[in-house]
Amino acid sequence: MKIHEYQAKKIMADYGVPVPRGGVATTPAEARKVASELKGKVVVKAQVHAGGRGKAGGIKTASSPEEAEKLAAQLLGTRLVTHQTSPEGVPVRKVLVEEAMPIKRELYLGIVIDTAAGAPVMMASEAGGMDIEQVAATTPEKILKAYVDPIVGFQQYEARSLAFALNLDGDLMRTATALMTGLNRAFKEKDCSLAEINPLVVTTDGRLLALDAKLNFDDNALFRHPEIVALRDTEQEDPIEVEASKHEISYIKLNGTVGCMVNGAGLAMATMDIIKQVGAEPANFLDVGGGASAEQIASAFKILVSDPKVDTVLVNVFGGILRCDIAARGILDAVKEIEVKVPIVVRMRGTNMEEGMKMLRESGLGVIVVNDLRQAANKVKELTKGKR
Ligand code: GDP
Ligand code: MN
Repeated sequence: MKIHEYQAKKIMADYGVPVPRGGVATTPAEARKVASELKGKVVVKAQVHAGGRGKAGGIKTASSPEEAEKLAAQLLGTRLVTHQTSPEGVPVRKVLVEEAMPIKRELYLGIVIDTAAGAPVMMASEAGGMDIEQVAATTPEKILKAYVDPIVGFQQYEARSLAFALNLDGDLMRTATALMTGLNRAFKEKDCSLAEINPLVVTTDGRLLALDAKLNFDDNALFRHPEIVALRDTEQEDPIEVEASKHEISYIKLNGTVGCMVNGAGLAMATMDIIKQVGAEPANFLDVGGGASAEQIASAFKILVSDPKVDTVLVNVFGGILRCDIAARGILDAVKEIEVKVPIVVRMRGTNMEEGMKMLRESGLGVIVVNDLRQAANKVKELTKGKR
C-alpha cells in the first residue's frame, strides 16, 4: 500500500526525521492560508501516489500567499501525468504547501528489503534528487549500502560510515546518524516495503531535511496497522485493482488480451507462461485463492472482463478446496449476469471435475470446455486477436 508524501512526512517526523514546516490543503483558499502562516517563499506540491512530479510540473514555488493560491488552483482538480503513472495520470485532490528550502546539496536515502540477502538494506547516495533507478543503472558505484541485520539491528557505526561517505561532518554527521536510525525504526515498526527520502537536502544554512518522503507498506502486515490502513487513498489506485481487493482477489492488470482466471498464485503464473509460450499475451494475473466461493469466482469474472482489451478468457481451475462444480457454478452465474460477449475457454482438473465440466457443457452458454492446459492455450491463441 502507498500513501501520500504529506502522510509519510508526518510518520517520519514522529520518528525524528526533520522535515520542512508545512500544511496540506484541499482548496486554493486553504493553500493561501497555509502559505501566509508559513511566511516567505513556499513550495506547492501536488499530492499523488507517484514520483517524477518535479519534471511533470507538479511542484511549484510561490513568493506570496496569493501566488500559492493561484498555483494550488492550477493543480487541484487536474490529473498529473508523470513517467511513473499511466497515460491518464492520477487525480490531484490535495497539495502540500511547505516553506521553500535554500538547497545546497541533494542526497538520497532509502531502505528496501533485499530479498537475496534476506535483510533490509539502507542505501545512500550523493546523487540525490534524480531518478535513483537511473543512477543504479548507469553509475551503481554512487550508491552506498548498509545491510540491517534482522537480529542485531541497525548499528551506529554503519550510520556513521554512510554519513561519512555522504560527506556529512560535524553536527550534520550527528543529525544524519539520528535520522538514519529513525528511518530504520519507522521502516521496521510500520512494516514498510520501502522508505525513501529523495532528496534528503543540506540547506545553505547547514540543516539536513527530508524534502520528499515516500513510504510503501507490506500489504500482508496491514492487519496490525489500522492507523496505516486509515491513510489509504483508493482514488490514486487502479479502479479494477481496488474492486478486486474488496473481494480479496489478487488481480494485476497486464497489457495482453487473454483474460486469465486461476485459483492459486503458482498455477496463475504457470498459466501466464503457457499463454505466452503459444504466442498470445495475458491481460492480467488473477488468483481467486485456493478456497474461493462461487460468489468470488463470479466477482473475479466480472473484474477481468471489465478490461476492454480482453477478447478471450481462459479459466484454469484445480479443484482442491475449491471444487470444480462450485467453480462451474460461479462461472455460469457470472456469464448469465453480465452477458459475457467474449469466448470462454475452461480447463478444470481435480475434485468433481466431471460434474463441473458437464454443467458447463450443458449450460447452452457457449463455454468451451477442454481437457488439458496445452489444448486450452492453443484454443485461446486461435480465438484472440492480440498476437505477440
Ligand atoms: P518528485 O519529483 O515527485 O520526486 O518530487 P520532490 O518532492 O522530490 O521534488 C522534486 C524537486 O523539486 C526536488 O528534487 C527539488 O529540486 C525541488 N524542490 C522541492 N521542494 C523544494 C524547495 O523547498 N526548495 C527548492 N529550491 N527546491 C525544491
Ligand atoms: Mn522525490
